[in-house]
Amino acid sequence: MATAAIPDEELARAGQSEPAQETTCCVVGGGPGGMMLALLLARRGIDVTLLEAHKDFDREFRGDTIHPSILEILDQIGLAEPLHQLRHNKIYGPTFQVAGGSFSPVDFRRLRTRFPYIMLVPQTKFLEFLAAEAKKYPNFHLRMVANVGQLIEGQNGVQGVRYQGTDGWHEVRALLTVGADGRFSKVRQLAGIVPVKTSPPMDILWFQLPHLPEDAHSDRVMGGFGGGRMLAVFDRIDYWQIGYVFPKGRYQEVRAAGMEAFRKSIVEIEPGFARHVESLTDWHQCSLLSVESSRCPVWYRQGLLLIGDAAHVMSPVGGVGINYAVQDAVVAVNVLSRPLRNGQISVQDLADVQSQREWPTRVIQAVQSTMQTRIIAGALQVQGTLRIPWFVRLFFRIPVLRNIPARSLAFGVRKVRLQEDS
Ligand SMILES: Cc1cc2nc3c(=O)[nH]c(=O)nc-3n(C[C@H](O)[C@H](O)[C@H](O)COP(=O)(O)OP(=O)(O)OC[C@H]3O[C@@H](n4cnc5c(N)ncnc54)[C@H](O)[C@@H]3O)c2cc1C
Repeated sequence: MATAAIPDEELARAGQSEPAQETTCCVVGGGPGGMMLALLLARRGIDVTLLEAHKDFDREFRGDTIHPSILEILDQIGLAEPLHQLRHNKIYGPTFQVAGGSFSPVDFRRLRTRFPYIMLVPQTKFLEFLAAEAKKYPNFHLRMVANVGQLIEGQNGVQGVRYQGTDGWHEVRALLTVGADGRFSKVRQLAGIVPVKTSPPMDILWFQLPHLPEDAHSDRVMGGFGGGRMLAVFDRIDYWQIGYVFPKGRYQEVRAAGMEAFRKSIVEIEPGFARHVESLTDWHQCSLLSVESSRCPVWYRQGLLLIGDAAHVMSPVGGVGINYAVQDAVVAVNVLSRPLRNGQISVQDLADVQSQREWPTRVIQAVQSTMQTRIIAGALQVQGTLRIPWFVRLFFRIPVLRNIPARSLAFGVRKVRLQEDS
């Protein structure tokens, strides 16, 4: 989320009208990473304040995926069962429509876990669920419409933040400030940490198609290629969420061809949507997203840590960003609970979080970049239906090999568990 520039004189007045709030850990951003971090710290009795710029948890451009790794972590704290009470869908892997039929390279059902599927829950509901759990702890403080605009700096590094609420400016002073404020992280910018791009940007039109009464629910994420386009289809129970991927910089071309040509190109890839596309009548129904990925060389400064997309913007390829943000949060809790309780966080503690999480992030971003630049970009060059080479099909038939991508998608490159509180 981009935040508006704040005049200096307003910032100077910030916090003068009221005493600053004191907390042990101030988390900026109530996405999956920040919310999970705040909940886990609160459960351990650590005073935590979560600042979220929006008035609610409604998220349009996010995934709704909850991977087996997150479900196992929630199970550790007794929340997997209650989460399953929410209305959800389960998916067992992606299926691509290619020349000669469908191709389903990954099947989570083969994994050894209590949760061999990706759970699809609207992210709003997931975040509300985590917030409701966190509110059970008196040491958890949630401030909505709290738009962070400045870091408070002192001799011991970052000592908190200033945020704009509905009634003006406020200060939160903290032993540790965590920037979990996503891809456009204000905290990262204020800390002077500059991310390095890890894959070229890619354009996606993001829109919904209605779920018609005769539609069966799908337990796969569906993908199809054709005419230099790719379609990713998610069943969000009440509607189909569509990602329409095309080569970078071709949006004007897509629009100039007209709405009828757009509808036709969707049906060419997925003939089953012939009636659904009639609902598309205006370009305003589609959001154009330029998606890229990047990673910060350093995720911390004294008194400050970045996690999730703030530390490493994840491409939607493979749908693993939520998983990685939550895993960052869990590692931060494993490493930092004791120093937070002792009232002393060293730069080495923060470096430890980065060193545990950086290499899995590097590996998955390299995989995403290869998929984006070689496989998807290559497929977008193909005008007819995509052919899967024989050696790729063979790879996914060999039991030991075919489970590697499934495990990496389900648990990340490195499985993360919540350690016992000491
Ligand atoms: C189109 C698209 C589709 C995707 N699909 C998937 C998918 O299917 N599966 C998947 O795992 N990942 C997907 N991703 C990636 C995923 O959304 C991110 O990796 C994930 O949301 C990162 O979580 P986070 O908690 O780090 O940040 P975010 O989810 O971005 O949360 C950051 C929070 O910080 C708040 N914030 C921002 N600035 C401030 C401020 N100044 N003050 C206070 N609060 C602030 C924001 O309002 C937001 O609530 C997709 C991404 C895109 C763009």
